[in-house]
Amino acid sequence: MNLAEERLEHLAGRLKLPDVPGLVSSLAQEAADKEWSFADFAEALLQAQSDASDARACDTIQRLAGFPSRKTIDAFDFSFQPSVNKKQVAELASCAFVERADNVILLGPPGVGKTHLAISLGVEASKKRLSVKFTTAARLVASLAEARTAGTFSRRLMGFVRPSLLIVDEVGFLPLDAGEAALLFEVVCRRYERGSIVLTSNKSYGEWGEVFSGDTVIATAILDRLLHHSTTISIKGESYRLKDKKKAGIVTTPAG
Ligand code: ADP
Ligand code: MG
Repeated sequence: MNLAEERLEHLAGRLKLPDVPGLVSSLAQEAADKEWSFADFAEALLQAQSDASDARACDTIQRLAGFPSRKTIDAFDFSFQPSVNKKQVAELASCAFVERADNVILLGPPGVGKTHLAISLGVEASKKRLSVKFTTAARLVASLAEARTAGTFSRRLMGFVRPSLLIVDEVGFLPLDAGEAALLFEVVCRRYERGSIVLTSNKSYGEWGEVFSGDTVIATAILDRLLHHSTTISIKGESYRLKDKKKAGIVTTPAG
């Protein structure tokens, strides 16, 4: 490395523009070939650094989010699931709902793409540099219960309160007892009008009493806050997981 390169590396480090030194050499050749003006070169350099910084921030957010798999809206086949309105999902993908601290509730039977869409919205938020955390209802309550025993409840709670978007998958898969329901309630209350929740459930709202072991008071209290500023997407369709099996005749849909 010559002295000029060393000085550039030092300044780029100080200004937190880590890709600039590498970009200067790669863009210099392009600038010469295409006879760019100095202004063109400066713009191309800063744009490339900005893109690289965005990509890095997005990767970090996605890593911290803890997605179980990487799903995108592009990979969602809307023609297979006509009960999902493509325009509505596109509007949600703008993440304006995250800026407004609104909620999104995805309801439907297994395999219809609730988790897929929830992760996709998380991925879109990460692209906008909004922090995201993915969890399931079971893991959320287990984590908070464990933290309470360990005396680290407040800090653990903040992990579910602080992200701009909290995804709570699989509410209703396993019924929650009174203590567990209180933990979920705490998270919902703390985020109410302050941070978005994307929640998925295989139970319709009418069945939420069962989710909370018959405690309709807590079910109503949680729903009241969740639904105040929210969009519900009810998916009524076939399981995507079983579509090929059905085609092959391995699984049959019960009549009626
Ligand atoms: P759910 O959470 O509703 O049980 P998932 O989102 O886990 O369902 O979907 C099951 C699998 O099928 C996943 O691999 C998901 O990516 C895929 N999938 C579901 N619906 C669609 C769809 N409409 N287009 C493409 N893939 C889908
Ligand atoms: Mg799921």
